[in-house]
This record gives sequence, C-alpha cells and structure tokens, in this order.
Amino acid sequence: MKNNIDLDFDRSHIWHPYTSTINPLPVFPVKEAHGVTISLEDGTKLIDGMSSWWAAVHGYNNPVINEAVENQIKKMSHIMFGGLTHEPAVELARKLLSIVPKGLDKIFYADSGSVSVEVALKMAVQYWFSKGYSDKTNFVTIRSGYHGDTWNAMSVCDPVTGMHEIFGSALPIRFFIPSPEGGFNGKWDDSQIRPLEEVLEKHGDKIAGFILEPIVQGAGGMKFYNPEYLKKAAEICKKHNVLLIVDEIATGFGRTGKLFASEYAGITPDIMCIGKALTAGYMTMAATLATDEVATTVCSGSPGVFMHGPTFMGNPLSCAVANASISLLISSDWQSKVNNIERILNEGLAPAREFDNVAEVRVLGAIGVIEMKKPVNMAVIQKQFVEEGIWVRPFGKLVYIMPPFVISDEELKFLIEKLLKVTAKQI
Ligand SMILES: *Cc1c(COP(=O)(O)O)cnc(C)c1O
Repeated sequence: MKNNIDLDFDRSHIWHPYTSTINPLPVFPVKEAHGVTISLEDGTKLIDGMSSWWAAVHGYNNPVINEAVENQIKKMSHIMFGGLTHEPAVELARKLLSIVPKGLDKIFYADSGSVSVEVALKMAVQYWFSKGYSDKTNFVTIRSGYHGDTWNAMSVCDPVTGMHEIFGSALPIRFFIPSPEGGFNGKWDDSQIRPLEEVLEKHGDKIAGFILEPIVQGAGGMKFYNPEYLKKAAEICKKHNVLLIVDEIATGFGRTGKLFASEYAGITPDIMCIGKALTAGYMTMAATLATDEVATTVCSGSPGVFMHGPTFMGNPLSCAVANASISLLISSDWQSKVNNIERILNEGLAPAREFDNVAEVRVLGAIGVIEMKKPVNMAVIQKQFVEEGIWVRPFGKLVYIMPPFVISDEELKFLIEKLLKVTAKQI
C-alpha cells in the first residue's frame, strides 16, 4: 500500500516532540486507530503500549465518547467562558469533585497539563500574597520530576533530564531535594523526609509550595516511591506553612491502581493538577483544583480575583469528552482491569530482570517499566518495535508501557512478548 502522507513535507517543515529539523528521526504515518490497535498508512497494525502518553485509557475511537463529541458539536464546539457558562462544564465539575480527594472544592479549567501547572504555581504565589507574605514566591520539588514544558513548569522539572542545561540561566532557581529511594514497596525510613524538613526550616519564608508527582514520577524518570513519603510531606508542609501541590496529570484516573495516586497516602493536597486521561486522548484539556481555603484566600486579598483566563477555558467539547470518559471509567470495573494488567505485567516482564542489559524492572498499576543499563538507540529500537507490531516509545534508559485499560489479556501478552524480544537485543 502507498503512503497518502507526504513524509518528505513533514520532514522538511514540521517539528515533532523533542526532535531536530536538521536530522529528524523517522516518524510513522498513522491512518487510524481503533481500540488498542494503531493502523499505519502501509497497513501495518500496532498494539498500543503508550495510551498516547497516558491519555487514551479507553483506547481509540470509543463509540460512547465519539457520540458525546458528535452531540456536543451540534450544540456548540466552543463558547468563551468569561461571563458565560454551560452544562458540560458544570457537569464535569460536579463529577470531578465527587471523585477527587475530599476537601478539593474549586476547579480551574486549563488547556493543557503544563498550563494547569503554571496555574497551580500562580495560585500558590497569589495565596501567600493575599495573606501578606509577598516573599513566599519560590518552590521546592523533588528530583526526577516532570511537570511540563512551559517556563515555570520547566523550572520545577528535574534539572538534569528537564533541560536546565540549556534554559537554566533563564529560569527561576528552585529548591531541589532528593527524590525518595527504595520504590513503592521498599522499607520506609524517616530519614528520607529530612531533606524536605531541612529546606523548609531554612527557606520556608521564601517558599510558596512543594510540588511533586504523587507516588509515580513520570517523564522525569519513571520512578515509584513509598506513599509514606507523601503522607509525611503533607504533614511537614502544613507545619511549615507551605502549600502542597500534587501533579496527578500522569497518575490520575486509575493508572496507578487508585483513581488518584494521592489516595495511596490518604492525603488531600492544597492544589492538584489533572490532565492527560481527563479527556481520554481526544482533546487537550487539564484542570487545577484547589481547596476552599486556598481559593478563598486567593480571592480575598487585592486584586480579589485569580489572575488567569485562557481563551479556550472550559471548552465545551473537551468537557463533553471528559464527562463521557469519566462516566465510562467509573461505571466500568476499572479497578479489576488495572489490577489484572498489573498482574500480567508483573508476570510477563519478570524475565527481563535476567537480561544483561537491564538494570531494573518495576510495575505499579497499569504501568510497566524496564530500566536499561544504557540509553537505548531510539532510531533503532523504535523501528524494531514497529516491525514486531507494537507501539512503544522509550526515552533514555527507560523502556516502559502504560497500555489503554481496555487491552485484552491476549493483546497485553503479545505486547509484552514483543517488548521483551526487542529489549533483549539492545546493546
Ligand atoms: C504530561 C505531563 C505534564 C504536562 O502536560 P502537557 O499536557 O503535556 O502540557 C505535566 N505534569 C505531568 C506529571 C505530566 O505527565
């Protein structure tokens, strides 16, 4: 079959994520995607291991979500949110507030994950400003984090994997503390929380918030950590008058085995970011949630309002998609699906521990990670995955999968088998 896409034009004129325009790695032209199967223009079929970067939890072309989009398009695709509101936005807020950690009460709709992080950081600064602490403007975070690619989101990403080498001198300087070690199940040791205590004791008067991904650190290192860390962190933040901001953009909506990873620690953050699976891989949308106390404080000082308002805020199509996706998720037995994926990942990935080129294998919920000893050659490994009929996109030393929850046992076993076959031969 012939490609309908002009790949030369793509190569000459279009930037893809984190790529060169001079010597870009090849891209594969996709014709369509249904369920967990991605079909390339040449007829090749790939089992999806990525959920389009954590988003497509229900797979592609889901009939229920498609219908929700079609119905909403006939009413309106977008309407400005300044001075106007609509049913999809109200329904989504109602749905979200019923499932997020108790205590979160106010929602700010943003247009992407990075923007929701910017919003969270601004909220924290404005919170302290309203209270009369105009010096509390900085942030502390743990290493190996990832919070997005916009300016201030980037400033709280891991300084090594997060591009600080290039942009460092242009970025605000944040406080970085070590990322907790020992994994999800590792033995807890209180000394792990000391760096947070120390930095807050010393610099708390300058720090507005502590931002981190709960339990699973995604694109900054695919690390898992003990819920005890998050629990202790919440107590310490409270004690030192620093807001706790959790970034659930990757972890939210069941991926880790809980609806939100914060539940593992039983905490309610002051501010929480969600995105990615919020709209099931259909549209771009994210949200920043805050407790009533945070929102009320932000809005009680001067200027009395929260200073942010994107053009596409509360986009009705995105809200309609999110409503359909959350209903699907909640009404399905998502927990046993995720548990089942976890069990098969655990069994299936275990043999990779014996590979000479593998440093560690870890699994949590519907996330499976193979950490290699050396960074993989992307051009080589990506092509091999496609030749084997799977879609997996590693970065650095990390070869990982987080398939759509609707994947069948057979499809998942196929994905794992091919993943191991390709991983084993990397040098
Ligand atoms: C992807 C991601 C972001 C950024 O979201 P975008 O929609 O790509 O801007 C922020 N935080 C975490 C944890 C993420 O995984």
